[in-house]
Amino acid sequence: MIHLRRTAAMLAMRHRSLRQQVTLLVGFLCFGLVCIVAAGAAYIAQSRVRGIVMANEAQQAAMIANILNRGMFERYREARNLAAMPALKTIWTGDPAGIRQTLERIQASYPDYAWIGYATPDGTVQAATQGMLEGQSVQARPWFQDGLKGPAVGDVHEAKLLAKLLGPAPNNEPFRFVDVATPVHDDAGLVIGVIGVHLSWTWADETRQSILGSQFYGEGRSIWILSTDGTMLLGPQIGSKPFSEEQVLSMRQAKAGAFEDGSGAGSMLTGFAAAEGYRDYPGLGWIVISRQPDSIAYAATRGIVWMIMGLGCAIAAIGLVCALFIGKSVVRPLQTIIEAANRIGRDPAITQLPRVTGSLEIVQLSSALRSLLRRAGAAEQQVIETSSRHAKDVSTLRHLAETDALSGLLNRRGFSLLADDAFSLYRRYERPLAVLILDIDFFKTVNDTYGHAAGDAVIRSVGAALTKALRTSDKVARFGGEEFVVLVHEVDAGGIITVAQNLRRAIEALTIEHQDHRIAVTVSVGGAMARRSDEDVQEVIERADSALYRAKAAGRNRVVIDGMQIQLASAVA
Ligand code: GH3
Ligand code: MG
Ligand code: MG
Repeated sequence: MIHLRRTAAMLAMRHRSLRQQVTLLVGFLCFGLVCIVAAGAAYIAQSRVRGIVMANEAQQAAMIANILNRGMFERYREARNLAAMPALKTIWTGDPAGIRQTLERIQASYPDYAWIGYATPDGTVQAATQGMLEGQSVQARPWFQDGLKGPAVGDVHEAKLLAKLLGPAPNNEPFRFVDVATPVHDDAGLVIGVIGVHLSWTWADETRQSILGSQFYGEGRSIWILSTDGTMLLGPQIGSKPFSEEQVLSMRQAKAGAFEDGSGAGSMLTGFAAAEGYRDYPGLGWIVISRQPDSIAYAATRGIVWMIMGLGCAIAAIGLVCALFIGKSVVRPLQTIIEAANRIGRDPAITQLPRVTGSLEIVQLSSALRSLLRRAGAAEQQVIETSSRHAKDVSTLRHLAETDALSGLLNRRGFSLLADDAFSLYRRYERPLAVLILDIDFFKTVNDTYGHAAGDAVIRSVGAALTKALRTSDKVARFGGEEFVVLVHEVDAGGIITVAQNLRRAIEALTIEHQDHRIAVTVSVGGAMARRSDEDVQEVIERADSALYRAKAAGRNRVVIDGMQIQLASAVA
């Protein structure tokens, strides 16, 4: 599969020009790099933003916890001051109207005080803001029970006795309070009553809302307040437990921090802080949660990724343009070489490649090709010289192979080639053909009388005389000894007799000078015309040879033609 894919990629690249290949490669490279950088940047940015968001959430939770703590501390301090302030000592045992007036003054100073009351140790409300619950018993209320023992705070709860008196809350939800209670002592230190303060829980909600409203990234963001056991005090679904017991426990132990909560529909980056009290306010163990979906972190990085992609694409485009120019400058000298190389061998004026400039490899290629051409030229010259020498040698060898060394005439081989061709022509076109065989008479005597060298001189002279007496189209050969064979073209029966006689006479008339000797010889001539019945030229030669035999037998120095009754002796001729 991988192999196939590689082959496909190679095929796609093979027939593209170098410039296209460079551009494509740079394009792919740039695109790949942009993708890798964008993905890397997205990953880094996302994890950074996540870290920042989580730290921010933790900080937010800690800040809210701090605000709540301080708020509660203030209420706690105020209640204790009220109970312990020496100037107010006398009013607790005085007229309930005086107590009410004092309590209402304090309520007016802080709008989230829903109710402030003073109850005697038996649980009867002696005075309260707006006279609410006065005369009624709060003996069973936890705040009263706790307040008898010492300064106490009570966790968020719904209004019980006050529910009817306060009427419906603005959002139609039940009134919810946080309680602060503190005992009032007389000079002897005995508890003479309990001050109870009901702080409207909208106080915490307002704090929460004010922070939510001032957020940068408000979308999907939430702030919750959980009780020490993880019950939702403020947030959606009050009374629910959004975290497991282990989670609540670990948050309480860690006191502050952040984690990624994947339990809901989407993953939430969750910061938390435990409200541990402030100074002598002991705190109620609330856990403040500040969280937002982690898609916010993705959204923040998406912009970065798009920016990098855009920037990367711009760089890739610049890279492509550069690649085009680089490709062009790389290819230009190559094209010069290609064009010149194409003309070598076609245009005789061009025998060498031009010297091009460019990158090191191009210069090296150019000089290597130039050197190759020089070497090829030298080798070509050598081949031409060798082959012409060879041709000369071949023609010399052929000449030697077909020539008789002594006389310079054709030898048997040279003669046979010509004779076979001539016989073929005769067979095909009936071109008349005749063969004459000449033998020097009493040659032995010449050798014996004048020596072998003189015999050789006679052979040479007879050969030359025969050549001279013949038409150039007729060929004379020496097969060996003192015997000559003549191939005569285009002759009829009369013509062959004439040719034979001419030759015989030419030799008869010849005087050979050799070392002060003048030697005269005669020849006997046998002749034959080619016939339709002849298989090959050898048959014609054989018939001529037997005619020669007859000429010898008849007395020498005469002509006998096969098939003719005439014998032409010198005397007759
Ligand atoms: P005939 O008239 O019957 O032809 O008598 P002849 O003496 O010429 O007899 P024949 O043709 O049989 O003898 C040929 C002689 O030629 C034999 C040999 O010694 C001599 N001879 C052959 N080749 C050469 C050669 O190359 N050089 C010389 N000098 N003599 C040769
Ligand atoms: Mg002979
Ligand atoms: Mg002879």
